[in-house]
Amino acid sequence: MPKLDFIDAPSQNFDDRHRPIRFCMLHYTGMETAEEALNALRFPTPRYAPPPPPSENSTAPIAAPTERVQIGTRRVSSHYLVYPDGRIFSLVPEHKRAWHAGAGAYGGETDMNSASIGIEIQNGGHDFGLPPYPDMQIEAVMALVQGIKLRHGLDKQHVIGHADWAPGRKLDPGEHFPWERLAHAGISLHIPVGEGDGNHQILVQTENASNDFVSRAQIGLRKIGYGLPQTDIFDIKTKDTIIAFQRRFRQADVAGNLDVETLAKIERLADIVLPS
Ligand SMILES: [Zn+2]
Repeated sequence: MPKLDFIDAPSQNFDDRHRPIRFCMLHYTGMETAEEALNALRFPTPRYAPPPPPSENSTAPIAAPTERVQIGTRRVSSHYLVYPDGRIFSLVPEHKRAWHAGAGAYGGETDMNSASIGIEIQNGGHDFGLPPYPDMQIEAVMALVQGIKLRHGLDKQHVIGHADWAPGRKLDPGEHFPWERLAHAGISLHIPVGEGDGNHQILVQTENASNDFVSRAQIGLRKIGYGLPQTDIFDIKTKDTIIAFQRRFRQADVAGNLDVETLAKIERLADIVLPS
């Protein structure tokens, strides 16, 4: 791994940790430019009321953000921001708590900001057509994660995406993020190839169905670390969690179907993770 140079860009948005560091969480910024993301991760920014729903007869243009009503201040941050060219900005010291995770559950953790180091990766994400992640950027992310893992003794199963923590609410870093490369470098989970791979035959056809496949998927997802209740019903939370799993481990089809390949991969991965 190359030696990393960090660019100091201190953020105002952080406080004290209440937990030891156990996780590393990867995000995309979801913003159009790195400069915009850098500003939002360093300083309080205005939070605006959502635009009113357009009425059917209205021809008025949607108000520009500056014309909207400010309803508060948005304060977010991460420890690092990685630019598309591989430059790494250091925003919050690792021993402090950055504000990147929000509400969620994974691996028995409830205060993810306290227990993790957050890395924002500049990428427009789903709102901007899921642009590819350049090689230089991914190499920088991998070297950064490797260093964090070594410094804090993190297990590779605790290198996760924002979507793993908050399925349904968060989509990042998205199905174009090359998790396979991280897995092959030994810095995130890898699922060995096996029976069922390539078989997209759907096992659960209807919403709220209840059968053995649903129960098995929930058991496996929970063992991997997902914060999913064991309801034995194919409910919306189960579907959202399957989508999060697919965005990481079955990126060619992230429709959220419980199919043969998805269940096989869930169970194969559940067999190799350690209890959290
Ligand atoms: Zn995120």
